[in-house]
Amino acid sequence: MSESEARPLNMDPVRSGGYDDDEPPSSPRRHPLWANVPQSQWDDWRWQSQNSIRSVRQLRHLLSFTDAEIEALGRLEGEYKLAIPPYYFSLINPDDPEDPIRIQSVPSPLEAENPSGYELEDPLEEDLDSPVRGLTHRYPDRALLVTTHVCSMYCRFCTRKRATMVRGGWDAVSRDDQRMVDYVAAHPEIRDVIISGGDPLTLPIAKLRFFVENLSRIPHVDVIRIGTRVPVTLPQRLYDPELIDLLSASGKIWIQTHFNHPREVTPEAKRVCNALLRAGMPVNNHSVLLRGVNDDLATMRSLLRALLRIKVRPYYIFHCDPVIGAGHLRTSVWKGLEIMEGLRGHMSGLGIPTYVVDSPHGGGKIPMMPNYMVSMSDDAVVLRNFEGQLVRYQAQDKPPTIKPTQTRGVSALLQGSKSVLVPEGTERMERRKLHAAEFEKGDEGGGCCGSHGGGNHGSGQGESSHEEDSTSGQNHAGIIPLGIRNFPPAKPNSGSA
Ligand code: SF4
Repeated sequence: MSESEARPLNMDPVRSGGYDDDEPPSSPRRHPLWANVPQSQWDDWRWQSQNSIRSVRQLRHLLSFTDAEIEALGRLEGEYKLAIPPYYFSLINPDDPEDPIRIQSVPSPLEAENPSGYELEDPLEEDLDSPVRGLTHRYPDRALLVTTHVCSMYCRFCTRKRATMVRGGWDAVSRDDQRMVDYVAAHPEIRDVIISGGDPLTLPIAKLRFFVENLSRIPHVDVIRIGTRVPVTLPQRLYDPELIDLLSASGKIWIQTHFNHPREVTPEAKRVCNALLRAGMPVNNHSVLLRGVNDDLATMRSLLRALLRIKVRPYYIFHCDPVIGAGHLRTSVWKGLEIMEGLRGHMSGLGIPTYVVDSPHGGGKIPMMPNYMVSMSDDAVVLRNFEGQLVRYQAQDKPPTIKPTQTRGVSALLQGSKSVLVPEGTERMERRKLHAAEFEKGDEGGGCCGSHGGGNHGSGQGESSHEEDSTSGQNHAGIIPLGIRNFPPAKPNSGSA
């Protein structure tokens, strides 16, 4: 098929609306290919698994490709595994070759390229920190167990692509099950065990039971984390009460899942995260920063808000590891920092993950963040907030050691002759002006609890700054002190807690 012959598929999903029209979780989707599958089958993880797209031959009937792409993908098929359950495939917009769900699941000819030569098979050197095959002991109190090389969906960006290769991948994980458990039992410093893969929720239930029950019995193991994308790619697996009961009975299980795009937060995903939470298992999420998937602020905010809506805690944003076959999905650290800059202070702290780079040579996770500490002295630090406000912060109660001199700007903050520098025109300051004007007019609406998160009304710092410019009614930094306000008495039966 030539490029000009690439078929417009025009297959709308079985739901109303487009692909990014609603706040997730919106409504279930089904590709028309499976429109007539009875709901009971659609909800059966075995059916989903058996009917997964596993070949380029199948893909070419469902999505548009050029001849050159088909040829390249045919070659790649011999390298990396491919599996996309009908459920996850139905989230793809077939008319968009750059669709973020497609990018994560459908192979790209770019997987064959490694122009910088920087990408490696095992960029984190996990195999070098493996005292037992399949077990990585890198951090003092944690161990990682790779229990299978099978996944319900093979993510194109996977750090362990070497484990999911068609040829030459890991072939002997299962022989070491008992040795992995014995190693954890023999090392009382290990408190937190991550059962990963591949995806451990693809394991036969007996084998998963072996790991969960044996590890749970080890007294020094406090936490067992299940690293799984099943809630994202095959939630139907978690409709099985036997699986939920097995995990819940341990009392030590935490779920570590992996949503990367808001469209993945579906009603089905919500259902299984809710089942896990109700069964007593905290659900944390790590996302991988991926070019074309979530490397823009609006998408990342939408994803994090959607996760909060289903009570999944955003835990990490990982920079995509330099793994062979995933180079085209990597973006700059600056892009990650730009996104973090747009999160902190702009949305609830509950929804803000830590952005980390997993460093080469097994150095482990290193947090990346915009610089919030601008300067420091023996007496104080100068911090900046999300608006660009610069504030002096004195961490200890001790007399000043710096002798004041004639100075200004950040230096004045360090010396203590100023407490804050406020940028002009911020929404917050405009709100304060409005409040102050209302107060002057005698309008007593609104309130302030005076706790963290409120303003700095009437603080000594604000008042001292205010003295510097008493003619304008504002303090030197543009902050309007509101003083102590008289609130009206609460109305009876107002319904407030
Ligand atoms: S589910 Fe996890 S292990 Fe499997 S391919 Fe995706 S990222 Fe890799």
